[in-house]
Amino acid sequence: MYNITYDVIALIIDTVLLVTFSLSNRFTNRKSRTYYAMVIMVMLVTIFDIMWASLGAGATPERLGLLYAFDSLYFFGLNSINVLLYLYLITIIRKDGLTRFDHALIVMALVGYAVLIFPSFLTHAIFYFDGTLTYTHGPLFLLLPAISCIFTGILLYLTVQNRSKLTKLQFQLNFAFTFLVTLSIIHQIVNPSLLMIPFALSLMLIVTYLTLENPDRYYNHTLKCLSKEALRETLAGNVEEQRPFVAVVVKIEDFDYINKVFGTVRGNDILVSLSSSLVDAAGFKATYHHHDANFVLVVEPGRFATLREVAALTYPRTYAIDDREIVITPSLFAVGYPDVVSTLAEVVDTIQYGITHSNELVKRGQVEATPGLIDEMYHEATMNQVISRAIEQGNLEVYFQPIYDQAAGRVTGAEALVRINDPTIGVIGPQDFIHIAEGNERIIEIGTTCFRQVCEFLVSDSASRFDILFIDFNLSAAECLDLTLADRLIAEMDRHGVSHDMLRFEVREEVLLDDSVISNLMKLYDSGCEFVINDFGTGISNTRYLINLPYRYTKIDKLYLWKALGDERAMIILRNAIKMMWDLGRIVLVEGVETEEQHRLLLSLGILLQQGFYFSKPVARTDYVKFLETYRYPGNATTEDSAGFEEETKGVREAVPHRGERV
Ligand code: C2E
Ligand code: MG
Repeated sequence: MYNITYDVIALIIDTVLLVTFSLSNRFTNRKSRTYYAMVIMVMLVTIFDIMWASLGAGATPERLGLLYAFDSLYFFGLNSINVLLYLYLITIIRKDGLTRFDHALIVMALVGYAVLIFPSFLTHAIFYFDGTLTYTHGPLFLLLPAISCIFTGILLYLTVQNRSKLTKLQFQLNFAFTFLVTLSIIHQIVNPSLLMIPFALSLMLIVTYLTLENPDRYYNHTLKCLSKEALRETLAGNVEEQRPFVAVVVKIEDFDYINKVFGTVRGNDILVSLSSSLVDAAGFKATYHHHDANFVLVVEPGRFATLREVAALTYPRTYAIDDREIVITPSLFAVGYPDVVSTLAEVVDTIQYGITHSNELVKRGQVEATPGLIDEMYHEATMNQVISRAIEQGNLEVYFQPIYDQAAGRVTGAEALVRINDPTIGVIGPQDFIHIAEGNERIIEIGTTCFRQVCEFLVSDSASRFDILFIDFNLSAAECLDLTLADRLIAEMDRHGVSHDMLRFEVREEVLLDDSVISNLMKLYDSGCEFVINDFGTGISNTRYLINLPYRYTKIDKLYLWKALGDERAMIILRNAIKMMWDLGRIVLVEGVETEEQHRLLLSLGILLQQGFYFSKPVARTDYVKFLETYRYPGNATTEDSAGFEEETKGVREAVPHRGERV
């Protein structure tokens, strides 16, 4: 007679676990799938156990087939649970999935169990019903617990070996339950009439439930969508199974601004609304919150086009907040696996790139990652490493490009231009890294280092020996936005004892649009520094700064000079740009002078301050000093060359303030 009380309790425990787990678990990954499988398997084993125990009590020849079936399924299920436990442990400790060895072990065990158990009604190897229809163990019966014990042994070994990868609770409980299961198997062998194993297994399931990661990690209760943790696992799972997908970054630009102006409560409302429209469009299982106002959708290839259409229909959406309105248009950026990227790291990198560069990508109209963009992204990553290395190892070097003054008949200053002297790549010019450094504030460190080098040069013997009057120093928008800029630069000049009027800060036109930048620059101006509008003509030529801002110098972009020779209309623009600057009382410099012809043209236009390869390329400090020592003016033009034009614009030129005069 069999006692099924423990089996019934086990069934109740399993049912409660299944219901609780289904309700709390909103994200299915390999771990949760294995757990579901374990619970269901234990339930089935328990049911088979109850079935055969009830039928077995009154075994008859007619029921024999059923008894063999239930008992076989019971034994097979019971022993396979070890395999599931093994799988479960592996998914915790090995993030990159199963190895070939794991697969081989699992298949061997399952096939071994099946071969031993299912033909038992013929072979009588494991169990059978004897002539009196009494349930009897076959000669190989002990093989089953033996194989199970090998598995529990492996489980125990893996648990101990990987204890650093398990939480303390996971470790202790894994350790405990392997003992529990082994003990219950031994108990069952010794005490066949008390059906204990399913009960022990359900206790083990409770224990495992407790060690399961908090399913909340995968779900964002506020936004009612899946979390970044879930995203990571979905991406990893798709890549591992080589399932094609498209990950779409959805972002609200300037969300910080919305939070600041309208408050975080309203900001959250907007996020909740965005999240729910994404869930509607892409589905719950495809919608993940990344961070702040960044979401990622993971959809089948081809669905991106539909999502774009839906987005275009739904957005821009206007939110009325109190008496104000705010219009939201999220930006979209997609990356396709495996067409464009082929590894998990590339998928993750591209998503991150889409998030940090969304502004720029929107401006470029780039909504999908292309192989070209991926190359650019990795180039940027390499450059970021090069920049960090340069900052840490002191490989930043300021080069000096001489600025020639025809009135003085000599080089009176230079423009400071940064270079990275990388030990493996060699000398790298700013066009390859400045824009990257501007994107991540490394530019501030670069600027600080370069400025120190410039100050050191300005107080050096060489600078005074060759009567260097100024150095032009470039400032990027990102540097000007830093509120401490002016104070830091002034402190550095004072620390070295550099006269402030020896510094002329070059800023590009568009930088001047920001009011906080202007207040920063005014501080420098008030302390005696000069300003040069860099690359005049390529920016936005905003009237406000043209009229109001106190700067004395304008550097006209080299393209105007290069085009002017041989293009009458470009010449008209160049002449008039110069004239306009003079009318406004500015001193004009031109860069990019490469030939004698260009030099002479500029002289004939009245431009005395010139810079370009015709005089010298930008060179390292020591070479600049050598240049100053040996330099002889290459041309034979004199200031007389500009006499004709000078006459014509005499009235205008008189308005130009002289050095030392403030505008
Ligand atoms: P920019 O201020 O317009 O600098 C002038 C650029 O024109 C320099 O390029 C210079 O080498 C180049 N150039 C000068 N004369 C000629 C010529 O005759 N022919 C040709 N083909 N090119 C000429 P570089 O050194 O590559 O600098 C590029 C830009 O990087 C600079 O443009 C500037 O905006 C930025 N930059 C350089 N150094 C710094 C720095 O220390 N801080 C910041 N924020 N930006 C910098
Ligand atoms: Mg410049």
